[in-house]
Amino acid sequence: MTYRVRFAPSPTGYLHIGGARTALYNYLLAKKHQGTFVLRIEDTDLERSTPESVQAIFDGLRWLGLDWDEGPEKEGDCGPYFQTKRFDLYKQYLERLIEQNKVYRCYTTKEELDAYRAEYQAKGQEGVRFHSPWRDKTEADWPADRSFVWRFRAPQDGQTVVKDVIKGEVVFENTMHVDDFVVARQDGTPTYNFTVVVDDLTMKISHVIRGDDHLNNTAKQILLYQALGEELPVFGHLPMILGSDKKRLSKRHGATSVMQYKEMGFKPHAVVNYLARLGWSHGDDELFTMPELIEKFSLEGVGKSSGVFDQEKMLWVNHQYIQHDDLKQTATLYAEYLKELEGLEVPVDDRLVGIVEQLAPRANTMVEMVRIGRYFFKDDFDYDEKPAKKFLKVGALPLLEELTARLSALDTWTLESIQGVFEAILAEKELKLLKLAQPVRVAMTGTSVSPGIYETLSLIDQATVLERLERATEFVRQKTQA
Ligand code: GLU
Repeated sequence: MTYRVRFAPSPTGYLHIGGARTALYNYLLAKKHQGTFVLRIEDTDLERSTPESVQAIFDGLRWLGLDWDEGPEKEGDCGPYFQTKRFDLYKQYLERLIEQNKVYRCYTTKEELDAYRAEYQAKGQEGVRFHSPWRDKTEADWPADRSFVWRFRAPQDGQTVVKDVIKGEVVFENTMHVDDFVVARQDGTPTYNFTVVVDDLTMKISHVIRGDDHLNNTAKQILLYQALGEELPVFGHLPMILGSDKKRLSKRHGATSVMQYKEMGFKPHAVVNYLARLGWSHGDDELFTMPELIEKFSLEGVGKSSGVFDQEKMLWVNHQYIQHDDLKQTATLYAEYLKELEGLEVPVDDRLVGIVEQLAPRANTMVEMVRIGRYFFKDDFDYDEKPAKKFLKVGALPLLEELTARLSALDTWTLESIQGVFEAILAEKELKLLKLAQPVRVAMTGTSVSPGIYETLSLIDQATVLERLERATEFVRQKTQA
């Protein structure tokens, strides 16, 4: 079977984490089956759709590495890929439904419709299955001076069955759940369910995989396929992503925009990995490379129940990638974050790779790595109060002076040469490493936590180390004088 799948977002905001998961699952299916991943922009809601949102979708997908095979900026045989550019096509299909008497003109006014609904609700009946008085009228009855909508002539008995590859069979009683829904509005513009069917048909989509908030729509869409005499695609509905309180994921639960995760310092593949596992499993495995995801992903592995969004776990996944990814790759990303957050232009060289090697085990995000590694690049830090009080005191003065003298005499600045100096001083004075390392650590970083002291010093250049030692020495002297 040829797989043609699609992601069909409405550009009315940012790329939502739930949308990104839908896109990811479609992407994985396409890649696994050597199929095609289509991007279609559903921009018929002219008031809410914006070019910025379209761009946000492109940016979000590309940042995650989910580039589409066919769609905007990647024209294929089934374009255009913006719904607003496909109105002629919708018109043709509407003609087809009109010719076959599958739709009818409904002249019910808004006021009549509201009254109908109010009556329905007053009776305490569930659902609002509207029975249009115009369903069985003929041309002779059509008022010339009133506008109308096109309604679908839905079956009035029987069932519509969605054969869902994830949920199994979902049965809709036509009398209860499917009414004569509108397919074209008074101004002739087509409605959502109609455009989706026309697009999925004409874009030759084989599998429609989307969130289960569309399940009710699917029942209506199936009726449209049947009315048009067309074959159904395979349908699969993904359970919604929930927040920790088991309510639908929203901003209350944390960031819901994909690009916010970039800002927070997540690696794109960590987000992809986390989203893949949010609703899909493969044994107890947690970490997957992209090729592994493509190989192992299947709709059978998608759970029937909703995944609960857990930012702690997402941080854990991100940490795994920070710690285990190729250091050079992380260093390149680190340079981007240093530029963005600190305005620093740092070359991606052995030194930066060395710094990343030291910081990676200690950082959950790239932003955290910038924060905890700032002293490698900037001198303008203050000493934290507690460690300064504890370690930068008069007893440390002779040690700092001795160290400064010996380090300044070094011709080569390497981890080994620095270690040699430390060990000599410690041996001569019969001291434990921490006695010397802690004051130096505060001098170098302003804090009492950092990677190993030799590594730290070797990754800061000799001149800066000496300057910082002088500064700390001066600090202690000032303190003793005060
Ligand atoms: N445009 C719809 C949405 O953003 C998706 C439609 C579909 O996947 O069929 O919710």
